[in-house]
Amino acid sequence: MAQTPGTEIVELASGIYARLHENLTNAGILVGDHGVMIIDSLRVPSFARDLYEDVKLITDKPIQYVIDTHSHWDHSWGNEVFPEATIIGHQNCYDEMIDVEAQEIWLNKIVKANDPWSEEAKTVQITPPNLTFDNKMSLYFGGRQIDLMYLGKAHTSGDIFINIPSEYLLFTGDVAQNRGVPFMGDGYPNEWPETDAKILEIGADVYMGGHGIIGDRDSLKSDKEFIDIIVGEFKNKISDGQDLETASSSVYEYLRKDFAGWRSFDKLEDSMGYIYTEIKNKM
Ligand SMILES: [Zn+2]
Repeated sequence: MAQTPGTEIVELASGIYARLHENLTNAGILVGDHGVMIIDSLRVPSFARDLYEDVKLITDKPIQYVIDTHSHWDHSWGNEVFPEATIIGHQNCYDEMIDVEAQEIWLNKIVKANDPWSEEAKTVQITPPNLTFDNKMSLYFGGRQIDLMYLGKAHTSGDIFINIPSEYLLFTGDVAQNRGVPFMGDGYPNEWPETDAKILEIGADVYMGGHGIIGDRDSLKSDKEFIDIIVGEFKNKISDGQDLETASSSVYEYLRKDFAGWRSFDKLEDSMGYIYTEIKNKM
């Protein structure tokens, strides 16, 4: 069977693959001795099954672990397809996924968007992680140490990073997306810069974000710079006494100079009011 259209599988190290999906959500595939670890189960069950079919092109080993980089629907709503797997995520990721009200808000947005997956989204049985941790968990898998790390709040309250120190390789979820603007409309702008600083300290040379193409150390620095600038600019405008509308439009115009070419920059506008309020409430 042919690979899912629109996807590309890149071998980052022996037995470690990035499964990039153009304009959609990426997944990681790690092949171990007896099973496979996948990073993110994608948006709806049919997407998770497509991912599974693509895994079978690489190996016939079963899916042993599913890692949820965070709770967002486009990363975790395929979890139900892997009932035999251990699903690992941060405790806050679990808490967000069992928050019925928050998940309803997402579902309503998805249905309203009328995308090819909107109808299927109504059938999703949201399946939270069945193994959680607080700060760090190490797995010894496929002859390597794999560190799952929580570095603080950022894109959500439960973002984790999958670090493979022997390969200087990192999976960053949606926190860093290689010159893509992450969704910031339910995130933690006050904590995000500090979390980003810790990501750089890990010392990875190559990373795969939840969207976009493979990044390097320079793009990781750029991702951090974007967050530092947007948060710093909002703080300046709020200190100057600017109201939500004035601050949002002036920060947006300022960012446009350097970041207009970034993926999803156009979607940032919808989150500006939320970011303003979050920052103002903590000043
Ligand atoms: Zn996300």
